[in-house]
Amino acid sequence: MRLHLRAVISILVCEALILSSVGCGHRTVAPQTPLSAAVFNPLQEYLQKSYLELFQLAPTLEFSQSQIDEMRKYLNESKDYCVGQFKGHSDQYDKQLEQAQADLKQQTPKLSDSQRKEKHCQIQNLRALKGQAEILADQAIPVAYENKLAKLELIEKWPDQFKAIKAEIADGSYKKRRWSDVEDVGFRQLFPGQQDDIKDGQEAIQQMKQAGLLPPEIEDKEVVEYVNTLGNRIAKLSDLRVPLKVTLLNSKEINAFALPGGFLFVQRGLIEAAEDESQLAGVLAHEIAHAAARHGHRLMTKATITSVIYQAAQVAAVLLTGGIAGIGTYYALQYGFYGLGLLLSLNLLGVSREFELEADQLGIQYAWNSDYDPNGFIRFFDKMATREGYVNGVSWFRTHPPFYQRMVDAQREILFLREKSEYIVQSTEFQEMKKKLAKVSKKTDKEEKNRPSLKAPEQDCPPPDKIEYEPGQPIEKLCKLPTRIKLGQ
Ligand SMILES: [Zn+2]
Repeated sequence: MRLHLRAVISILVCEALILSSVGCGHRTVAPQTPLSAAVFNPLQEYLQKSYLELFQLAPTLEFSQSQIDEMRKYLNESKDYCVGQFKGHSDQYDKQLEQAQADLKQQTPKLSDSQRKEKHCQIQNLRALKGQAEILADQAIPVAYENKLAKLELIEKWPDQFKAIKAEIADGSYKKRRWSDVEDVGFRQLFPGQQDDIKDGQEAIQQMKQAGLLPPEIEDKEVVEYVNTLGNRIAKLSDLRVPLKVTLLNSKEINAFALPGGFLFVQRGLIEAAEDESQLAGVLAHEIAHAAARHGHRLMTKATITSVIYQAAQVAAVLLTGGIAGIGTYYALQYGFYGLGLLLSLNLLGVSREFELEADQLGIQYAWNSDYDPNGFIRFFDKMATREGYVNGVSWFRTHPPFYQRMVDAQREILFLREKSEYIVQSTEFQEMKKKLAKVSKKTDKEEKNRPSLKAPEQDCPPPDKIEYEPGQPIEKLCKLPTRIKLGQ
């Protein structure tokens, strides 16, 4: 009966939304949970704090189980609602596209060259908008809510978890955890056969170049040298037994990834976003761990590299033009908030929940072994989840999915490590490098402004519209959630 009622409400809402020109066929019912302000306001405030702050605060907070459960239900309903809205927008753009194409067909004999061009630009723009609405619905909005849900779980569970960790330290049972032999990093055996992965990595790179997916490399010798030195310093003190090959990609995307065989790709946006050397070291160490533990090889069971790169190129093409991919796809990718992280096969990158946990643990060990503050990786993750805003972080979060266990296990590993008297957090070399990188970014931005999209079938159109989103703004603003809060209660 209740389900039936919901369905009716949903249809009614749908009709109302059609009138207000928002598409339908998706969940567009606003959250049903009548959340009282007494629950919503204080919890909402804490959910906007960073993971590291919450580790400190959670043991002092006193929310009841029913308050937590209410909030969780509200967040899940809000997520569905928000996703539904953007799926609706995407349907709407689809309809407008169909209409524009029908108009084009009908009017074609009468159109002047400039009118035709205008139509082409309109179609191109609608495709770009549809792509953005889809990324928001499929990636950015779910990730924003996953971070909130993980933080809620942290408030709920961390106090007990923290007690359990302290007990494990007290009775020495923490020494029985997997990969507890951290003093033997570099000498222990993780998974044999790393050298067999080199040819796979080389093949993947070749295929990515052919598909036009790889952005150009950064040419500034000093910047390249700095990141190369940092990467190799960590690799030397890790379990990686193949040479590390570092490549710096000149792209705004905030991400880094490792291909099988020790091929580490670091994107300019990531280095720009890192605030200190230990954050960058933490990310590099995490990626080195993927290569050392052969995660890509272990997940790429059936598919061939050619087929996964081909698929990536197809995704790029569909997102951008509804057509075929080719040289220069990457430039078009940078128009929106797309990037390699949204395209590449997670299996090739060795990303799964289980392997992320393992790469976090090993990466924290490698950073620690290289005398870096082992919190660096968490602080970077936190920055992405809190200040960068979720839309800028879609690439990062696709390849580094946020979930509670991940944050807890990372924190746990740090607590289990022997404390050193001093950790490297910042260095003057890092700060000098950032100054040089800023020049590279400025120059690249200027060049990109003048470069027509190599991929766009119709050149010289105005740049595609962007769905309005201010970096760092809370996701609720994007969805204009009608908060069903009984204020003042
Ligand atoms: Zn990872």
